[in-house]
Amino acid sequence: AIPTALQVASGTGAQLGVFIKSHQAMESARAVDTVVLDKTGTLTEGRMSVADLAAADGVPPSDVLRYAGAVEDASEHAIAAAIAAHARARLGGLPEVTGFAALAGLGARGTVEERRILIGSARLLAGENVSVPAALEQTRGRWEGEGRTVVLVAADGTALGAIALADTVKPSAAAAIDELHAMGLNTLLLTGDNATTARAVADQVGIVDVVAEVLPADKEATIARLQKEGHRVAMVGDGINDAPALARADLGLAVVEGADVALAAADLILIREDLDVVPTALTLARATLATIR
Ligand code: ADP
Ligand code: MG
Repeated sequence: AIPTALQVASGTGAQLGVFIKSHQAMESARAVDTVVLDKTGTLTEGRMSVADLAAADGVPPSDVLRYAGAVEDASEHAIAAAIAAHARARLGGLPEVTGFAALAGLGARGTVEERRILIGSARLLAGENVSVPAALEQTRGRWEGEGRTVVLVAADGTALGAIALADTVKPSAAAAIDELHAMGLNTLLLTGDNATTARAVADQVGIVDVVAEVLPADKEATIARLQKEGHRVAMVGDGINDAPALARADLGLAVVEGADVALAAADLILIREDLDVVPTALTLARATLATIR
């Protein structure tokens, strides 16, 4: 009787847009009280584009774009792809970068036209003792308040400018979060992005709790902390950074367009991009258990 019930659940899941990888994990789903969601690519479409650019006093905006584009052209990050494509389209080409290094969860560095370029979060620049002019900081704060992801660009230890990236919240997100709350579940947004940006996105979709500016290695630690506090946790994510957290969670749900390692670490794969599959999957897990028991 047990395999039959599971087969039914698998069949139903596929119809609803969920592929069940681990039936064992479905058992844990009944006890889940907290749903943790990644931001970029999970709550948002994950298709970033350059929305705005600001240069420091006396700096040509094209310099900001050229240096940023050259370094980001060597990076794999979604932010990088957006900046490199934008810069290439605007400038017609990009100079070469040497000594490129990706700085996980922070940004990237490289040398362009004999200048040492640093691109990434405010935290990255602060860590490198690069001070940012007040006007640029003000612009960054305004953009972040609008839910933009903002990266800063510096050359030889001096801040040159800021770039705002736009990413659209999935139209299905707010209703899905509502439904999770109606099921009595807590929700939490977990992201490496800035706290202001994270709060703005959380407010757009109705998520109460936010843990932001989390380094890739610390996403898993956040899940572990919640578990230690007595919570049973479902994690929804898509990125390479999310894989350890997906594995650690009582129930890991990966978005199908996500990174291979995220799919490998998850218990359930969300076949449709719409987030309504998250409450559906959890409801299904509860129902499956009821059938087996
Ligand atoms: P997320 O949790 O949104 O996937 P990451 O951990 O990949 O974010 O990155 C966190 C932050 O680090 C980004 O919001 C950005 O500020 C910065 N960052 C990471 N990689 C890059 C990059 N290649 N270029 C610019 N900024 C980056
Ligand atoms: Mg993501």
